[in-house]
Amino acid sequence: MMQEKEKERYLRQMAVKEWGEKGQEAMKKSTFLIIGAGGLGCPAAQTLAASGAGRLLLVDGDVVETNNLSRQFLHTAERLGMNKAESAALALRALNPYVQIEPIPRRVDEEALRTLVRRADVVLDCCDNSATRHAVNRVCHDERKPLVTAGCIRAMGQISVFDFRTQSEPCYACSFPKDSEQDLKASSLGVLTILTTLMGTLEAAEAAKLVTGAGSVLTSRLLLVDLLHGDFQTLALTPDPDCLVCGRRRSSSAGLS
Ligand SMILES: [Zn+2]
Repeated sequence: MMQEKEKERYLRQMAVKEWGEKGQEAMKKSTFLIIGAGGLGCPAAQTLAASGAGRLLLVDGDVVETNNLSRQFLHTAERLGMNKAESAALALRALNPYVQIEPIPRRVDEEALRTLVRRADVVLDCCDNSATRHAVNRVCHDERKPLVTAGCIRAMGQISVFDFRTQSEPCYACSFPKDSEQDLKASSLGVLTILTTLMGTLEAAEAAKLVTGAGSVLTSRLLLVDLLHGDFQTLALTPDPDCLVCGRRRSSSAGLS
């Protein structure tokens, strides 16, 4: 239960009828696992902490570098060289002391990831590489945990929700097969701060809606954002029966590499 002082923080938010005190209590009871405390993870974690999340598990094995500071707002020049999960935790605790912040300052293997996913109510993929994205998708599918995933290149963003609590949903791998060249493309093409901030905030929005039940989420849909031209499009996603992660036609020996 929230203390009076704590409730006071969220008065404006609780005044929205789709959210209300019920939504606020649901946030308070929820654990959000955020993979990556970079361009997407910073705005996502900041928004969820300010919105009254109960607990944030924040994973990142990298340290703060100068070129991160233009878009990863939880880090500061004074914390260059500090682990990103630890640096973000300092900022988030200052922002909202009612939120339990648990930094995991290392790269996690699939087994460690599974342990973290089991503790979470929602998983936010805020990483910057396709290998991790596929591993997170696989583990969330196996553990039946809802996953919010987003990606950014230049001024183009995409976001989707895979709610593995229901059986008939497509997964990330249905639409995005493994592509090792994708990461190279992303880092060489660059990315705009105005895009990562937007997409990370959208990830927080989808995660918050998943736990509060407010509105509806982007399940089986992909929201594509072309920020330079103000163009937002939503595409339908369909399950691939031959998908190596969730496909109904896959043999018992196939996949899960
Ligand atoms: Zn799939």
